[in-house]
This record gives sequence, C-alpha cells and structure tokens, in this order.
Amino acid sequence: MNKIMELESILLPGIDPQRPLVIAGPCSAESEEQVMDTARQLKAQGVKIFRGGIWKPRTKPGGFEGVGEVGLPWLKRVQSELGIYTAVEVANAKHVVAALEGGVDILWLGARTTANPFSVQEIADVLKGIDIPVLVKNPVNPDLDLWIGAIERLYNAGIRKLGAIHRGFSAYDKKIYRNLPQWHIPIELQRQMPNLPLLCDPSHIGGKRELIAPICQQAMDLNFDGLIIESHCNPDKAWSDAAQQVTPDTLGLILDTLVIRDAKQTTENLSALRRQIDELDNNLLELLARRMRVSIEIGTYKKEHNMPILQTARYDEILQNRISQAVQMGMSDEFMKTVLVAIHEESVRHQMEVMKK
Ligand code: PEP
Ligand code: MN
Repeated sequence: MNKIMELESILLPGIDPQRPLVIAGPCSAESEEQVMDTARQLKAQGVKIFRGGIWKPRTKPGGFEGVGEVGLPWLKRVQSELGIYTAVEVANAKHVVAALEGGVDILWLGARTTANPFSVQEIADVLKGIDIPVLVKNPVNPDLDLWIGAIERLYNAGIRKLGAIHRGFSAYDKKIYRNLPQWHIPIELQRQMPNLPLLCDPSHIGGKRELIAPICQQAMDLNFDGLIIESHCNPDKAWSDAAQQVTPDTLGLILDTLVIRDAKQTTENLSALRRQIDELDNNLLELLARRMRVSIEIGTYKKEHNMPILQTARYDEILQNRISQAVQMGMSDEFMKTVLVAIHEESVRHQMEVMKK
C-alpha cells in the first residue's frame, strides 16, 4: 500500500469534476499576442485551464529555451481577462518562486525534472507551506519508483493537491511514438495510488498531430482522469514542438469525438464474464503448479543421472513449437515468448533447488 493516503482534489473552484479534466495551451508562451490569441480560442472551446511553457528544457543548446519571467504577466492577463486558470512547468526553486509571484494557479514538474531527485527535493522544499496543485510528469526513463518518489517528496513537503501526468518514456529508436506509452507503467501507478488523479499528455507521447486523438481515446479507455494537450493558434509556426501542436479548433473536435465510458458501470454480463476469468485463472495456476511439479521430477532424474539442468536444444524446441502454436491460436509471438521464458526461469529455479539437496 502506498504511503499517500490523504489527498485533496486538484479541481479548482468552477472546474467540473467530469472526465476528462482538460489542460490545453501552447508548448511555449512565445509572445503576448500568441498567448492571448490561443487562450481566447481555447476558451471558446470550453477550456478552463491554460498551459504555457515559460522555461523550456531543450535537449540541445541553441533551441528556444522559453521567454522566461517576462511571459508571466501574459498568463496573468489570461486569468484576469478570460477567467481561465494557468499552469506552468517549474524545474527549480527560482522558477517556483517566480511562478508563485506571478500568480500561476497550477505547477507541473517536467519529465527531466522528475528524473532528478535533487531538483525535485529543491522544488519540494520551496513549496513547503504553499497550497497549490502540483502535477508530476513521469521521468524520461521507465522507472515507476522514481515517479512515485517525486510524488512522495512533494507530499512530504505538505502538498496535498497532487496529480500525475503520463507523457511516455524515451526510446533510442523513435518509430511511431516520440515517447513510448508503456501503458502498464501508469496503470501500475493507478493501482498503487488509486486516489491520485492521472492525466495523459498525448502531445509528448505522440510527437505528431495525427496521434493526439487516438492516444486521448486510449487514455480515456484506461480510465485516466484528464488530458494535457498542446494547442497553438498557429501550430506550424510554433517555436517548439510544432509537429505535435493542434489548433484550438482541432482540439475542440478531438474532445468532442472522445467516447467516455462509465467506469462505475458494472453490468450483470460483465460480472458473469469476470467469474469466468477468475475460474480460468484458477485453472491456469493449477496447471502451472502441476507443470512445476513435473519439472522438479525431471530435476531429480537429471541429478540422479548426473545431467546438467540446462538442455539448450530442448529449450529451443519448446520455444519454437509453442510460439508457432500460440500464433495459430491468435496470440502474439512476443507474448508467448515472455510467458515461456518466465515459466522456464521458474522451472530452472526449482531444478537448481533439487540439485542443492
Ligand atoms: C512540455 O510539457 O512542453 C514538456 C517539455 O514536456 P516533458 O517534460 O514531458 O518533456
Ligand atoms: Mn512541448
């Protein structure tokens, strides 16, 4: 069980508790005009929380590193003229102090910051005694403990309005995604911290406009609470992350077409199906236990006949046969391989115990 038990809602006054909670705005605040123009158009689409990067962590020097503090009064205008909340990324104590002085409503920690416990602690220390929602993006590397650790540091500093943002994980080979979704990681976070609001950032996962809608839908199907989406009044001309930003109109369309399924609804049919799954899982466990018992017998035989545990040819044969059988039965080869390797590891472990006796 996680240590975080007592959280307060991140929903600021006037924000509906319905799914998805939406935060939208440009990757970077570029100019007062771009901020106001984008925010006005987003307001027309019903957006109530505006994001805008003021300090940008760029991979290489020479990229646009954000306008810095001069952009904070632009966000203030968004709040006062349009009645929209604002959210900003902070990466160190100076950013936090400036953002708080500038009246920003919500802070978030970027992926590179979450990966660095020194930075997270520095931010947590300066936030002591301050009541503001803080969202924590996953670290760039697929390390759930590091993500949870950052959330715990903020919690220990007294922050109670906490949330997590899933923005995908870096990969050396970028294929379809800019950052691999690896959905099982945020799902495990949700399991360990069921009361922590979980948002998805499809923009940084996808890296391209066409992927925003399907990733948003997947996040909703996985019961995420919200979405943080990059939107720019003129995406092609954006100073950072141009390929992944959508116009406020497109954002409106994406949100309108999302299918939101009701997480609380459990029909009779579903419970009948779940009973079937329970029974099948029981059968699977019994079969696996039986298989292990046979492995142990084989281990005893090998010991008595002075044979080594690992019989590579036999293992190869099992892998190949079972995988092609599984594929014919509609399962993927990667899945079957993972299962077989795990079963084999457990069998070897049992046989090694036998050898020791
Ligand atoms: C961003 O939100 O613009 C950003 C830099 O994101 P990340 O920390 O996920 O890379
Ligand atoms: Mn960005």
